[in-house]
Amino acid sequence: MAIGVRQVTKRFGEFVALDDVSLAIPSGSLTVLLGPSGSGKSTLLRVIAGLEVPDAGEVTIFETDATPLPPQKRGVGFVFQHYAAFKRMTVRDNVGFGLKIRKRPKKEIRERVDELLELVQLEGLAERYPSQLSGGQRQRMALARALAVEPQVLLLDEPFGALDARVRKELRTWLRRLHDEVHVTTVLVTHDQEEAMEVADRVAVINNGRIEQYGKPRDLYEHPASEFVMTFVGPVTRFRERHIRPHDLEVQLTPNGTSEEATVERVVHLGFEVRVELALAGGEKVLAQVTREEAEQLELLEGQRVFVRPRPKTVFVPATAPARPPA
Ligand code: ADP
Ligand code: MG
Repeated sequence: MAIGVRQVTKRFGEFVALDDVSLAIPSGSLTVLLGPSGSGKSTLLRVIAGLEVPDAGEVTIFETDATPLPPQKRGVGFVFQHYAAFKRMTVRDNVGFGLKIRKRPKKEIRERVDELLELVQLEGLAERYPSQLSGGQRQRMALARALAVEPQVLLLDEPFGALDARVRKELRTWLRRLHDEVHVTTVLVTHDQEEAMEVADRVAVINNGRIEQYGKPRDLYEHPASEFVMTFVGPVTRFRERHIRPHDLEVQLTPNGTSEEATVERVVHLGFEVRVELALAGGEKVLAQVTREEAEQLELLEGQRVFVRPRPKTVFVPATAPARPPA
């Protein structure tokens, strides 16, 4: 185990930001802390880094009790959303900074920085200044700088959060590949469930300072432990008093067993998938997701009468909150 968090509680005044959190992060893994804004993700990461002192509980890093150690003694590399680069230093000097203050020989620094710049695909940009880089390039430089001192663990707090959607997507694919190459134990904070599902070996879903579920992306999707996880991880629709995945709702033209009558209100083609917005008798809205082939076979039209029912083996979680129209 690379990082052990045991019964950590952190308060800010009366407010409980982390409530008895325990988490065991395996060595060499890429673990994501996923949750909505304000759920306590950054606080947990900062507790691991030593930037926040917990009110109770302890943190171990590679079996060493890190709780009393300052950040610089924990062997952690950190990258934030807005990385504070040294503006008057070149990319090379920014990346090599940690090695320079550790008084490593110049030749070694030069070689190591070249190696890192290649790793983050910034070779050729070593003599530029941070202002001459794009947002994505700057974050990759930040990663190279964090990796330069060979941290035991790499902590990333929404490192791509400030970038536009396309670059963010590219960078998360890139990050996963980088991780497969260097294998340094990494904890990534994000509020983006798609990002989490795409890059993570394991995801800890955090809500209100508590871990709701900790597991593989697929487990969260297929076996959500709570209503919160079900609705936060992956698409959901309400069908009667339950949350189900829209692709688990079967749409047919004739009644079949327990199926219910519904009216097609809207059909949205999204390439391979087709989203069908329906109204049940009584007006309740429900969303179905079918493949293009199914939609063609059914010849779905707005205003059409259809019959819907959850497929066998549908994942469902009771819905406690009042019904809202599908987003
Ligand atoms: P997240 O990263 O999930 O968005 P944070 O861990 O940053 O959430 O914050 C969790 C909660 O703790 C928020 O409500 C935030 O306002 C509060 N909080 C975080 N840091 C402080 C602080 N230094 N002082 C007071 N409240 C804080
Ligand atoms: Mg945060």
